[in-house]
Amino acid sequence: MAENNDYRTVIREDEDGTRHIALVRRDPETEQLTDDQIITHLQEWRAKREQPDRERWPIPEPFGDWLKATKPGPIEPCPHCGSWSLRLAPVPDAPGEARVVCTMSECQASPFYRD
Ligand SMILES: [Zn+2]
Repeated sequence: MAENNDYRTVIREDEDGTRHIALVRRDPETEQLTDDQIITHLQEWRAKREQPDRERWPIPEPFGDWLKATKPGPIEPCPHCGSWSLRLAPVPDAPGEARVVCTMSECQASPFYRD
């Protein structure tokens, strides 16, 4: 298994049981990093990839009833997908708070988009 020597596996388990596994190619630069630094780098990289303005909401069941309970949004198409699907919807886990969201699950700007 000579190829395993090319990579260094770093495993760290958080107190809450979350496991972080990083596989890094061995080179002079990564050899200088501690396990903790490698995990931190990985988390920074993941955080950068996640779009903070694209939150995901659980899909209400049944969706049709939930949709009827929302209020009309602005009279304009969604700036992202162009469909007339903007609704003023209650924010999950934030009682009393409502936000204009696109309700098309195919729209990447929608909190119901699944990729
Ligand atoms: Zn949209």
